[in-house]
Amino acid sequence: MMAAVLYGKEHLQVEPVAVPTLEKGDILVRVKVALTCGTDVKVFRRGYHARMIVPPAVFGHELAGDVVARGGEAGRFAVGQRVVAANSAPCDACYFCRRGQENLCEDLLFNNGAYAEYIRIPKRIVERNTYEIPTHVSYQDAALVEPLACVLRGLEETGLQAGDTISIIGLGPIGLMFVRLAKLRGARVIAIGRRKTQLDRAEAAGADELISTEKVSRPVELVRSLTEGRGTDVAIEAVGNPETWHWAVDMVRRGGSVNFFGGCPNDSKVSLDTSLLHYSEITCKASFHHTPAHIQKALDIVSAGDISARDFVNREEPLSNLLEVMRHLMSHNGHLKTAILP
Ligand SMILES: [Zn+2]
Ligand SMILES: [Zn+2]
Repeated sequence: MMAAVLYGKEHLQVEPVAVPTLEKGDILVRVKVALTCGTDVKVFRRGYHARMIVPPAVFGHELAGDVVARGGEAGRFAVGQRVVAANSAPCDACYFCRRGQENLCEDLLFNNGAYAEYIRIPKRIVERNTYEIPTHVSYQDAALVEPLACVLRGLEETGLQAGDTISIIGLGPIGLMFVRLAKLRGARVIAIGRRKTQLDRAEAAGADELISTEKVSRPVELVRSLTEGRGTDVAIEAVGNPETWHWAVDMVRRGGSVNFFGGCPNDSKVSLDTSLLHYSEITCKASFHHTPAHIQKALDIVSAGDISARDFVNREEPLSNLLEVMRHLMSHNGHLKTAILP
C-alpha cells in the first residue's frame, strides 16, 4: 500500500509499505479520508512529538474509513462497516483513568498512520474509541470527531453557562470550533483573530463581536469595553503563544476562568501577576487531548449536524500531494483543514 512515512524535520515521503498485520481484536481500515491537523504540521516542522510519534513512522491521526479485515473472529465491528477511530485509547486501570481523567492516562496508547491507504486500529482503540458512522454522516464530518472532542472537553472545563460572554483568541479550525460550540451553548462570543478570512469565518460560525489583531495590537481594553469594563466570563487561548496566554488572563472578569488551550513551543515560560490572580480569583486551566466520553459526545454533535466539515475543511488532495500540502500549511497561517483522500 502507499503510506506517508515521517523521517524527521520537514522530511516525509509517500512510499510503498507493507499493509499492517493484525493481531487478535485489531481491525484494518481502508482510509477514505484523513484530515490535516495543526499538530501534524507542528510534528512535520519539528520532526517529532514527544508523546505521540517517534520517526521514522507512519503519520496522520484524524481519519474515517471502512473496515476491510479483522484480527480474529469476534469483535465489535464487521467487514464493510463505516467507522471513525480516535487516535488513542486509555488503559482504564491507572490512577488517572480511575478518576475519569483518561486524557492523562499513564499508558495512553496512540495510533498514527492515517495518511495511508490502510491503517491498523489496535484492539484497545477498537474496543474503547471506535464508532460506526451513522449512515447520514459523511466520512469528512466523522473525521472531525477527534479535534472536536478536545475542544468540547476544553469548553466543559471552563464551566461556560448560557448567557455568558466568552472571548476566543485564535481562529484556526480549533478556535472556530470553540466559536460554534459556545454559540450552541447560548453564549455571547467575542472572536479575536488576525486575518480577515478568519474573522469572516468566525462571523459565519456565529461570533457576535470580531476583533482584528491587525488593527488592534493588544485587544484587552477593547474586550473590556465590550463587557462594561468587567472582562469576559471565560477566555480561551487557542493560539499557543505566551503573549496571548497573557491576554487571556488580562481579559477575563473577576471570578472568570481561562483555558490555555494552545500549546506553546517547548520551554516557553509565562509570568503572571499574582495579585491579579489572587484578588480577582481567576481560574486558570489548560486542556490536553480527549477522553472516550468526549469522543462519543463529539460524534453525537456531528451526527446532529451541529458541526460539519464544510466549515472546517476547504481543500481535497490525493495522498501523493501530502508533502506539498504540509509545506504549504507550514508556511501559510490562517488555513482550514485539507482532506487527504488516499
Ligand atoms: Zn488532530
Ligand atoms: Zn490509564
